Amino acid sequence: MTDPIPLNPWPLYDLHSHTRASDGLLTPEALVQRAVAHRVDVLAITDHDTVDGISPARDAIARLQLPLRLIAGVEISSQWENNEIHIVGLGVNCQHPGLIAFLREQSDRRLARAQLMAQRLEKAHIPDALEGALALAEGGAVTRGHFARFLIAQGKADNMAQVFKNYLAKGKTGYVPPQWGTIKQAIAVIHHAGGRAVLAHPGRYGLSTKWLKRLIAHFSEEGGDAMEVAQCQQAPNERTQLARYAQDYQLAVSQGSDFHQPCAWIELGKNLWLPGGVEAVWLRFPEIVSV
Ligand code: AMP
Ligand code: MN
Ligand code: MN
Ligand code: MN
Repeated sequence: MTDPIPLNPWPLYDLHSHTRASDGLLTPEALVQRAVAHRVDVLAITDHDTVDGISPARDAIARLQLPLRLIAGVEISSQWENNEIHIVGLGVNCQHPGLIAFLREQSDRRLARAQLMAQRLEKAHIPDALEGALALAEGGAVTRGHFARFLIAQGKADNMAQVFKNYLAKGKTGYVPPQWGTIKQAIAVIHHAGGRAVLAHPGRYGLSTKWLKRLIAHFSEEGGDAMEVAQCQQAPNERTQLARYAQDYQLAVSQGSDFHQPCAWIELGKNLWLPGGVEAVWLRFPEIVSV
């Protein structure tokens, strides 16, 4: 059975997006304006291990009087069974000392990993990758996305998919196994900061059905609140399947574009709707939406 697709869901929620505070290409100011242009009503900014984009986004919404509600979010890197798992926090208090201390540690881990990645690339006769990636990060969280852009600029690959496949994916020349904390720690820091924890893009970890169910069960047992089921680019059966898992493990559901930059197939608010029979994270936890 297929679910009806609401053509104009309202209000339109996009609860996963990036700015220049991490590996997005737009400033927070440009991102919120683009969200409005694409009819998004409620936007969560969820940069990798930083909340630095939130305050400039809030200021821009107030200054330009944009019809947009902003959710303060963050996408925390964690690890589980040798996989890098992303946990989105929604409705966090950006001033919470525990969150600030945790994000500082994540930043240190990112820098240490970047140094090791650059050493590995240097051995493969690609010099100056640390300087290159840090320059592209412009003081924000340094990610593999910045290394990818540097390598493309060096002519080592034509596009992001190729550069990850050849240099940055698990086991490749520039890959360094991460030293992230556990899923439990990520959930705890989000909860202490007053937010709700969402398992990000569960379909993108390359897990078999058995392992994906294990991951969702673990996330739920550790106190996770919701999981993403809807993204821009996705087979409809994946969305329905993920919604079923959310029901099985008593999780609310979320939707988000994971927008990083203007491109042909991923856009703010695009193709975001929920299958029937699930409870949206914004309905189960309405406090995550601040006015
Ligand atoms: P990091 O958190 O530093 O490990 O970087 C992860 C980020 O790299 C993701 O959030 C994506 O933005 C990007 N990324 C990872 N894999 C790919 C891929 N195969 N193609 C394009 N971007 C990717
Ligand atoms: Mn990213
Ligand atoms: Mn992610
Ligand atoms: Mn993301």
